[in-house]
Amino acid sequence: MARKLTKVPGTKLRKNLFARARKALVGGVNSPVRAFKSVGGDPVFVEAGSGPFLRAADGRTFVDFCLSWGPLMFGHARREIVEAAKAALERGSTFGAATMAEVELAERIKDAFPSMELVRLTSSGTEADMSALRAARAFTGRDLVIKFAGCYHGHVDSLLVAAGSGATTLGVPDSAGVPKAFAATTVVVPFNDLPAVEAAFKRNKGRVAAIIVEPIPANMGVVFPKDGFLQGLRRIATREKSLLIFDEVITGFRVCYGGAQTLFGVKPDLTVLGKIVGGGLPLAAYGGRKDVMSVVAPEGPAYQAGTLSGNPVAVAAGAATLDLLRTEDPYARMEDLKAYFCEGLRRAAVAAGVPLRIQSFGSMFTPFFLDGEVTDYASALKADKAAYGRYFHGMLKRGVYLPPAQWEAAFVSYAHTHRELDVAIGAAAFAMAEAAEGQSRRLPITRKRSKKRLMKSR
Ligand SMILES: *Cc1c(COP(=O)(O)O)cnc(C)c1O
Repeated sequence: MARKLTKVPGTKLRKNLFARARKALVGGVNSPVRAFKSVGGDPVFVEAGSGPFLRAADGRTFVDFCLSWGPLMFGHARREIVEAAKAALERGSTFGAATMAEVELAERIKDAFPSMELVRLTSSGTEADMSALRAARAFTGRDLVIKFAGCYHGHVDSLLVAAGSGATTLGVPDSAGVPKAFAATTVVVPFNDLPAVEAAFKRNKGRVAAIIVEPIPANMGVVFPKDGFLQGLRRIATREKSLLIFDEVITGFRVCYGGAQTLFGVKPDLTVLGKIVGGGLPLAAYGGRKDVMSVVAPEGPAYQAGTLSGNPVAVAAGAATLDLLRTEDPYARMEDLKAYFCEGLRRAAVAAGVPLRIQSFGSMFTPFFLDGEVTDYASALKADKAAYGRYFHGMLKRGVYLPPAQWEAAFVSYAHTHRELDVAIGAAAFAMAEAAEGQSRRLPITRKRSKKRLMKSR
């Protein structure tokens, strides 16, 4: 075991890259989780990706289970998507004018999601979530929004709100720089808790514009809605004349071609899409009921715009991705690959004697380092973050790249094969043992390194 763990070439180079990055970019990154703060250590700087593999700037290669946090159903640089984006780029990168390609993408989206009668394209999921809320508020003339603890809807001011512990509370900001008045427009309730939703409505009678929910949350790790939960939200929203917004930025086109709403047979008033719909380029969408979407400019008074909205290169990549999903129908195979990999992880955890609860749906999964079930944010937070960190680094040094945080979904792509999964399962045998061992039985090389780091940080 120790022999396999000889020092990876490029450790020094890696440190230099991060040091240089931090002099130019805040924290060295353009999105916080990339900095590896949650698991410790130096972030990976990626140079290229191909299929299920990543190549780092320091020469290491990895099997990738993070996959840019979800967009890459077909792995990196799938030929048809690259060709479509290239061809679009050759025709001009942006026009700031209407194009038929945008219409065709919107038609594909409408086909997949019949609840989306009218669609608007944006450049990021955050932007689409923010705009969907604005539309809901404009349509209902109400200000409050109910969200669920642990669900993520981008870094929208009013949605960066922490859960009140267990009880339903009016939100307090989760991020510096969010005015209290904005946070106070958000009511946070626990996921899977219909009585809490009822109570929130009772206390805020006639003031709730919308309920926003990830129908299968993936941003506290993968959590499954209890039987009847989503149907219950639909029933309550209708009764209270509020709107139901499904944030399917992760689940849309991932759990099936029509997203979680198709699987569960629940029709939201508005839907938010992102990640997959742009085929790995910056593109997202929101849309829904015609009467609701008609409040959005230029049809209606709710302003929302974007210089690069419906960007031709992103639209081409998105359309190519949706076409591939139709023609290759990768869902069953991806689910099989996921099941195979998760079974390998489970066995490794059992052999290592480390408590592990794997929750998964379709091609997404989260290994929670805990005993018991995860049904909401409070139970998710019981996971052992330090154990995840040891597992993460155990995998990383053996060539497997995972989401660098416990409370996230990992993914398999259609480009993965059993060969890569076997490599990763082989790595997991060691990584789970290390996760179980904790600090007590580190290998000498690791101990030396972490001591050095400790001294430096003082
Ligand atoms: C990623 C994500 C977002 C935010 O999308 P960005 O493109 O990162 O702004 C919103 N909602 C959910 C459910 C997401 O997973």
